[in-house]
Amino acid sequence: MTAAARRCTIVPPFVLDRLAEQGHEAARRSLALDTLHRDNRLATALATAAPAHHLTRTIGDARHSQRLPGRTVRIEGGAATPDATVNRAYDGLGATFALYEQVYGRHSIDGAWLPLDATVHYGRDYDNAFWDGNRMVFGDGDGVIFVDFTSCLDVIGHELAHGVTQYSAGLDYQGQSGALNESLSDVFGSLVKQYAAGQSADQADWLIGAGLLAPGVHGVALRSMKDPGTAYDDERLGKDPQPAHMDDYVDTADDNGGVHINSGIPNHAFYQLATALGGSAWERAGQIWYDTVTGGTLAHDSDFTAFARATVAAGRARYDDTVANTVTAAWSEVGISTS
Ligand SMILES: [Zn+2]
Repeated sequence: MTAAARRCTIVPPFVLDRLAEQGHEAARRSLALDTLHRDNRLATALATAAPAHHLTRTIGDARHSQRLPGRTVRIEGGAATPDATVNRAYDGLGATFALYEQVYGRHSIDGAWLPLDATVHYGRDYDNAFWDGNRMVFGDGDGVIFVDFTSCLDVIGHELAHGVTQYSAGLDYQGQSGALNESLSDVFGSLVKQYAAGQSADQADWLIGAGLLAPGVHGVALRSMKDPGTAYDDERLGKDPQPAHMDDYVDTADDNGGVHINSGIPNHAFYQLATALGGSAWERAGQIWYDTVTGGTLAHDSDFTAFARATVAAGRARYDDTVANTVTAAWSEVGISTS
């Protein structure tokens, strides 16, 4: 399994680090679990059984343990349960499947009908959600900093998009290729939400994790694609560290080389493109990004420039020079030249 398949958490380590340093117990325990995940290159074997040719969801309940997959509480076609968390996970997997299937003609995240599995109520007050290479896992949040991680459809879309990247471009989860991996998850996570809500690019909030921060936290979300660096500014969480331009690129060894930080740059390029093209962001802008990640031309260690050039080529191949020039202009807005 490649590094891209390791457990990718939605809340970056630097956020939990800061909370833990202030003595926030739930953050300290969440961080300890995440570190364990990162160090434990997941060795789960992918299912080898021939898949059914339709969406197949299974939701497990860890009942606050760290055992996966937990007790099965809802299967495909099963009735809603009294547990809203279970139903949100089920519906979120369905909404993510719908975007890829209906818009891009992709059959599940591997393109081959991979069953979509999720586990909810993982750990106690666990302040994170992650894709472990095989399934989605959601914590309940501690209720002080974060609420239930099934609350945000874009968080669910984000994590499953890591699966799509894993099965396609396989971008290394380190440095610029890692920031691209993170950005692709934010892009498609946001598109899942926009598609489900029927929002145009100018109606969308372009936030990742809106509604995830508990009441009293100064912030609106985990990240902003529209205005990177402005999602939160809180005494406990610190300030959103994302740059929107290469001039402010952050060189760091933390966070796998700033994968959740510098992702602000390609995130903002996508936002610029989607709003410049107008209409539904999942149509032309999303299609170009989808073609790029699944096109087979990206190296595992692609940097921002290589990715940007591939999107210009994809825009020209799928559409025309006018669209390709709009892609070039979007990257130029964030300080990346594709010439
Ligand atoms: Zn991620």
